[in-house]
Amino acid sequence: MNSDEFRRYGYQAVDWIAHYLENIREYPVVPKVRPGDLIDALPVSAPEHGEPMESVLNDFEKLIVPEITHWNHPRFLAYFAISGSVPGILGEMLAAALNVNGMLWKSSPAATELEQVTLGWLRQWLGLPAEFFGIIYDTASISSMHAIAAAREKADPDSHARGLRGDLVLYTSEHAHSSIEKGAITLGIGQENVRKIGVDDRFRMRPDLLREAVMLDRNVGKKPFCVVATIGTTSTSSIDPLNEIADIAEEHGLWLHVDAAYAGAAAVVPELQFILNGIERAHSLVVNPHKWLFTPVDLSVFYTREPDTLRRAFSLVPEYLRTAEDPRAVNFMDYGVQLGRRFRSLKLWFVLRYFGRQGIAKIIREHIAYAQRFAALVREDLDFEIAAPVPFSLVCFRFSGSDDENRALMNAINDSGLAFLSHTVLNGQVVLRLAIGNIETKWDDIEQVWRFMKDWAARQSVHGAHG
Ligand code: PLP
Repeated sequence: MNSDEFRRYGYQAVDWIAHYLENIREYPVVPKVRPGDLIDALPVSAPEHGEPMESVLNDFEKLIVPEITHWNHPRFLAYFAISGSVPGILGEMLAAALNVNGMLWKSSPAATELEQVTLGWLRQWLGLPAEFFGIIYDTASISSMHAIAAAREKADPDSHARGLRGDLVLYTSEHAHSSIEKGAITLGIGQENVRKIGVDDRFRMRPDLLREAVMLDRNVGKKPFCVVATIGTTSTSSIDPLNEIADIAEEHGLWLHVDAAYAGAAAVVPELQFILNGIERAHSLVVNPHKWLFTPVDLSVFYTREPDTLRRAFSLVPEYLRTAEDPRAVNFMDYGVQLGRRFRSLKLWFVLRYFGRQGIAKIIREHIAYAQRFAALVREDLDFEIAAPVPFSLVCFRFSGSDDENRALMNAINDSGLAFLSHTVLNGQVVLRLAIGNIETKWDDIEQVWRFMKDWAARQSVHGAHG
């Protein structure tokens, strides 16, 4: 493609993006499609000869976009809502153009050093100790897996060569994200060596049960090695008591990893920084800018105060063979599974610079305020009830009826195209989750969803199904 053609299609693509973002509320958040629809609409084999770019762009609009669940929609309120903000989109475009591979400092000095700089900035914003070393992985799942690998390296260095004996035990709450268990399975810790600690009535890990479990394992000759606390659990955004968990971790020599994939971003807001109180006692932490820091998927940030342990877990260059390279030349490939690495820090740099700390804090405060306002509506309404505390921008609530009715309400909203909500199960009951995290979400968006739910509830009582 020559540069004139590139300009033409490039402008067309940027125009499409601008128009899409301007008019995004006109799209149904969830598409009305069935599994296999797109596969059936596309040719079985790839083209033998190249096709005009017009046809590809046309098919993007005609075939792909109608099958999209619009994660960038202001009424996407499912899971943890996210934003691919415009500065982030621009950074992503430019990173694709440069197409560097940041495996070594030498293979891309800028990608390596910008990663160090942006993660240094973010570390300051989050109030983390200066000794925390940062690295970008794709997702929180992968970040936490690397934490567990470092913990394993520290607890049982011989296992690096020999493999595991099956005695290492990991602790996390029953509300922890499934990625913790997956990480333990992947690393050979074994599912049977993952203890899911019970929670209190606010869905926080109970330190007394943690201590009990560790002692029990100790007594039967197991080797407790790692505990994962969550700041902002996936179901309810509950906050595990970090300092109390750190006490136990210190008593028993456990690696303390903190999963703050979603809620960690809130620590950018000065008055919310307390959510990470005790973080200086943790060995590692994950925060996902692709969740609540307006950075396009994917970008997960991992910090550890033991980078040497992380490197020992993954580097295949023995320390004595290390060249006397400039100590400032970090080779990120030594700190994880992957060799090749995308230039992810570019989009983060765009986002951090464009919004600034105050800009980001303002949006996060607004999301939390909307969540509180929505929670207040729910609390005051006889048809609905709050199902969990609301520390951040996620509201767990339910229609005061059966599980089937709650599922029916969620399906009605999602099928209408108005919004997308997800659910969880708390204390054996189906609970709806309204998660605010998109940069364009306004109170009017939330109000529209509330009105829909109120109308739906009114129809239930008319039909006598509720009560
Ligand atoms: N940890 C928590 C607390 C989460 O809520 C999630 C996803 O929602 C994850 C980890 C997994 O994130 P990722 O998709 O980046 O692996």
